[in-house]
Parts: sequence; C-alpha cells; structure tokens
Amino acid sequence: MKVLRPTSRNEALDMLADDPSIRPIAGGTDLMVSWHHHDKTGWTLMDLSRVDDLNTMSMDDHALQLGALTSYWDVIASKDVTNAFPLLTVAARQVGAIQIQTRGTWAGNIANGSPAADGVPVMMAYNAIVHLQSRTESTDVPLDQYFTGYKQSVRKPDQLIVGITMPRTSHDHEWFHKVGARSAQAITKVGVAMVKNGSGWRVVANSVAPFVCRCKRLESALNDGQSFATPADVADILKHDIAPIDDIRSTARYRQTVLARLIHAHINE
Ligand SMILES: Cc1cc2nc3c(=O)[nH]c(=O)nc-3n(C[C@H](O)[C@H](O)[C@H](O)COP(=O)(O)OP(=O)(O)OC[C@H]3O[C@@H](n4cnc5c(N)ncnc54)[C@H](O)[C@@H]3O)c2cc1C
Repeated sequence: MKVLRPTSRNEALDMLADDPSIRPIAGGTDLMVSWHHHDKTGWTLMDLSRVDDLNTMSMDDHALQLGALTSYWDVIASKDVTNAFPLLTVAARQVGAIQIQTRGTWAGNIANGSPAADGVPVMMAYNAIVHLQSRTESTDVPLDQYFTGYKQSVRKPDQLIVGITMPRTSHDHEWFHKVGARSAQAITKVGVAMVKNGSGWRVVANSVAPFVCRCKRLESALNDGQSFATPADVADILKHDIAPIDDIRSTARYRQTVLARLIHAHINE
C-alpha cells in the first residue's frame, strides 16, 4: 500500500487525475473502520491533511462555507456558526464521541455515502451545495441530488469534494432528532431533520432508504397546510418518500413507525 501526501489542492487533483483509483483520506474515521475487511494490496491512499486550503471554514451574511477538512468540532467550537446553523452542532454533538468529532469531516460523511450518516440530513435540510473538483472541471451539486443509490453518488473517481456551501436564510423552525440503541456512540436507526424557511419545509430522513433522502411528499403536504391527526396519517404520506429495510440494527416496520411518530409528535407540539 502506498500513501501520497499532497500539500496543495492542485497537487491532489493532479494525483487523482493520473490515478482515479486513489482513495482520499480525511479524518480516516470511516476508512479505518473498514480497514480489516479489505485486501489493501495495490491500494494508494491520498492523505489530505496537509492541503491547507481544504482546511477552511468561513461565514458571511450570505453563506457558510465548509472546506473538505472541516471537522465536526470546528463547527461545534464556533458560536457564530452554531447560532446561524444550530442543527449542525446538534447533529455534530451526536456523531461518535469527541475523538471522532475532532477528526471526522462533514465532507467525509457525505463521501462515505452511508444512509445512516448524521451530518448529511442537517446539511441537506439547510440546502447544502457540494463542490466537486477535478483537474479539469469544477461542478456544484445540490446535496439532495448527490446520492444515486446505496453508497453511490454523482462524484466521479477523479473528483474531490473540495467544499460545501449552505445559504444563510432565516429559519422559522429547525429540529433534528436521532434514534439509536443508546443516547451516545450509536449508529442511527432512524433520524430526521426538519427546517422551515420562507420557501417552505425541508424534511430529511436518514436510515430509512438506501441513502439520506428528502421526504418530498411530506414537505408538500406540510407546505399545503395539511394537518395530521395521528401518526398513521403521517405514515400514510411517508410511505411514498422512504424505503426502509430490516437489518441488524432495526426493522423496516420500526423505522417507519418511529419516524412517523417522531414527526407527528413534533409538528403537533
Ligand atoms: C467510533 C465511531 C463512531 C462514529 N459515529 C458516527 C455517528 O454517530 N454518526 C455518523 O454519521 N458517523 C459516525 N461515524 C463515521 C464517521 O466518523 C463519519 O462518517 C465522518 O464524517 C467521516 O469523515 P472522515 O473525514 O473521517 O472520512 P474518511 O474516513 O477519511 O473518508 C470516508 C470516505 O470518504 C472519502 N473521502 C473523504 N474525504 C473526501 C473528499 N474530500 N473527497 C472525496 N472523497 C473523500 C474517503 O475516500 C472514504 O471513502 C463514526 C465512526 C467511528 C469510528
């Protein structure tokens, strides 16, 4: 196994262009977990940690920009970002423990493509744009159009996620809830982020489909002012938005029922 250590973005993009089979490594908190499951003969890793211009976070009146190396802790530690985008910090505090929050990156959470990712729902609810770059082109993709299947995305092998942008708008309402087997250090069985601003509701759920997804039918119903007397009424709409499965952590029925109950309880608070 070989490890490349670029010191600039262009050097990293050149390396990827020359060999798209190279695996970028940011915090390593996903890549190292699956380490023992792979035969790494022939692997080339590209350690991004020395690429300073990917390690940036900035916010102005219009938007928040996260670099590819922005960690959960960078967001938790920023009062300004937490005030403007509270759900980012709410979700970040529930990702693993502090060790993971200081190493794990928001971009890695997206790139890893897990349907259980906790950073993705809040970013998607905040209308995030993913910036992809290769040696020859730059592309911006709305996060809600980034995933194409289980662990599949529109990212081409020679592209890096170089940053994520979230527009600053005032939010009338924002909420994130994660259900796991215990209150910390647990992989999500069901999760939901809900944000309402001038353009309406965004409802994003994780662990209930092959990838983190918006619940667009439910969003439309909420935007139309529909009320839901019981959790079953929410579930009736949600069934068009989600496709949960049985796995070692939970059952499809549990995920569907709990998601509907959570949303029903929350919107009728
Ligand atoms: C103990 C533990 C607990 C955890 N708990 C949670 C949790 O509660 N919730 C949760 O969502 N996750 C959790 N995770 C998973 C992980 O911490 C997050 O998904 C994290 O955001 C991954 O970021 P990273 O920088 O460490 O990614 P890495 O491991 O470095 O990379 C992950 C994948 O993304 C690719 N990649 C990384 N950066 C880029 C880039 N810029 N461009 C293109 N590809 C890239 C890598 O090649 C790799 O395939 C946990 C992990 C551990 C070990």
